Amino acid sequence: MTAQLDAPHDLVGIGIGPSNLSLAALAHGLPHQGAGELATAFYEQRRDFRWHPGLLIDGTTLQVPFLADLVTLADPSSPWSFLSYLKHKERLYPFYFAEQFHIHRAEYDAYCRWVAGRVPGLHFGHQVDAVRWNPERDLFEVDFTQLDPAGEAEALGRTHTRNLALGIGTAPHIPDPLRPLAEAPTVPVIHSADYLDNRQRILAAEHVTVIGSGQSGAEVFLDLLRARPAGRERLTWLARTPSFAPMEYSKLGLEHFTPDYTRYFHSLPEPVRDHLVPAQWQLHKGIDTATIAAIHDELYRRTLHGGWPDAVLTPGVTVRTAGRVATTKVELHLEHTEQGARSRLTTDAVVLATGYRERPLTRLLAGLDPYLRKDSSGRPRIDDRYRMILDPSVTGSIFVQNGERHTHGVGAPDLGLAAWRSAAILNTLTGKEPYPQPPRTAFTTFGLEPRPEPHPRPTVELRPLADHA
Ligand SMILES: Cc1cc2nc3c(=O)[nH]c(=O)nc-3n(C[C@H](O)[C@H](O)[C@H](O)COP(=O)(O)OP(=O)(O)OC[C@H]3O[C@@H](n4cnc5c(N)ncnc54)[C@H](O)[C@@H]3O)c2cc1C
Repeated sequence: MTAQLDAPHDLVGIGIGPSNLSLAALAHGLPHQGAGELATAFYEQRRDFRWHPGLLIDGTTLQVPFLADLVTLADPSSPWSFLSYLKHKERLYPFYFAEQFHIHRAEYDAYCRWVAGRVPGLHFGHQVDAVRWNPERDLFEVDFTQLDPAGEAEALGRTHTRNLALGIGTAPHIPDPLRPLAEAPTVPVIHSADYLDNRQRILAAEHVTVIGSGQSGAEVFLDLLRARPAGRERLTWLARTPSFAPMEYSKLGLEHFTPDYTRYFHSLPEPVRDHLVPAQWQLHKGIDTATIAAIHDELYRRTLHGGWPDAVLTPGVTVRTAGRVATTKVELHLEHTEQGARSRLTTDAVVLATGYRERPLTRLLAGLDPYLRKDSSGRPRIDDRYRMILDPSVTGSIFVQNGERHTHGVGAPDLGLAAWRSAAILNTLTGKEPYPQPPRTAFTTFGLEPRPEPHPRPTVELRPLADHA
């Protein structure tokens, strides 16, 4: 072990996805509470910055406007904005005439890589293994493994910091019945996160099944559909949800992704918050209406000369179990929830667009467990400044980026709130206000302003108003 006793940092970030890259960019050059600049370091296990590389399907776009870049919604004058990137690349005029509010996903990835290549203090190929609190030094100890290009351990190291920012994101989720198949190398059963690496193998299969009715499932289905000959599509798209439902994208619906709603959600009691997140699935789990339209259009064009495309789209279906048939085929055992009917489907390849789950913090933070304050479900309690609530003896803060859906609501993974959250963290950390934040961000007023009941109580009896016809 090569223990490095370096000067402690003010802030160490774990993971460099958009959340912590935003924090690193906005922290760059900020003054420290005392003298000099804020000392920051960020560690990422990947060799370089990559934003969901398996799903950078040609033509796919962000679901948020380009203003939801790493910095603009906190500081439009930042040198790390998407417009600065375009200026640097001498592409401002083409972008101006393109009139594209929703930029290509590949372009967002390229922009983030441009920022990641320039902001100082980012360490790629470093996997953080453990975090502890050192009460003698009033510092967090962060242990990491330096990885070689093949991802093998090359060296071990340790760094010290007064504060931490966890930005470890989400990992692909595979439902239990399909896990053994996805782990068997001979059968093409893959998670959509690995789609592009396996696209040729999937396209070569006689019959392909896509499972999942979110945006990724829709994009993969559309890509496969476009690539297969008319009349010989041989595609099935199954979803557990009762319909292939559109994502909520009305102007007032989008106000659920504002700091105002986040603040309101945070103020609610834990059981109410836990009830709300699954009930709001259409805010984040549906399909973009443009993608639904593109799928319908592609299917429709295939009927122009008569006949129907050889594609089956069935919602309301659960995959109960799955097994291998011979060496290459897969049999899916299906159940239609509303009908109560069961059936089997034999297919040659499966793409699991079954979503992502927050990466568990338990292993990483095992050494901090005695200091963590948890809710009734064992999840970390997080205050309104994105800080984990810790034992008061701990003088440092642990900020959480995109691991706070249970306390801050559906906006936690949203790119449109990343710059705001980073700015809030830096305002707290510096004790100054390098990024002033307006008190109001939505037209909707979420919740009622609590007012004390008037005393003495009115003597007139209050009757319910008659319903409007
Ligand atoms: C395909 C796809 C498209 C999306 N499109 C949109 C969109 O258009 N608009 C929107 O608002 N949201 C979108 N999202 C949701 C979300 O905002 C993004 O997924 C975003 O990447 C979240 O950023 P993050 O930094 O929090 O996490 P991640 O991007 O998951 O990054 C976390 C990073 O931490 C690293 N890491 C994890 N553990 C360790 C460790 N122990 N040591 C070191 N490094 C570690 C990981 O390697 C990873 O690079 C999309 C999600 C997906 C999957």
